[in-house]
Amino acid sequence: MGSAIAPPTPLKRTVMQEIKMKYPICPNCNGNFSFFQGLKFLNPWNIKCPHCEIYIQGSRLYKALSVIAPFLGVAISAVAIYFEEIEKWETKDSLLYFVVVFSILFFVGYKAWPYMKFKLKSNKE
Ligand SMILES: [Zn+2]
Repeated sequence: MGSAIAPPTPLKRTVMQEIKMKYPICPNCNGNFSFFQGLKFLNPWNIKCPHCEIYIQGSRLYKALSVIAPFLGVAISAVAIYFEEIEKWETKDSLLYFVVVFSILFFVGYKAWPYMKFKLKSNKE
């Protein structure tokens, strides 16, 4: 019984899996959220899926990061203000510093984005 089952195009599957792994997905419609779509998810407690328009929420990690982010922003600014106050930096030094720091944060965020998880909003909460 040499019923050779043809492998269902393994290359295409791998690419599909990679695409799925690259982005978090909606728990309702399985639609992908690209990083740039994610930038619009400002409130992790109330996210509207851009695909199926159902309201979902971010994982605990996502929420924690959203809470920390404003403080991190203040802390980053404080460094520049400090160095300008003690006259070690000029405005251009601060600007360079902001560009470098935010580039790093953006890159880290971009790399971390695929690990973000989303779940359906439960009515109990
Ligand atoms: Zn959806």
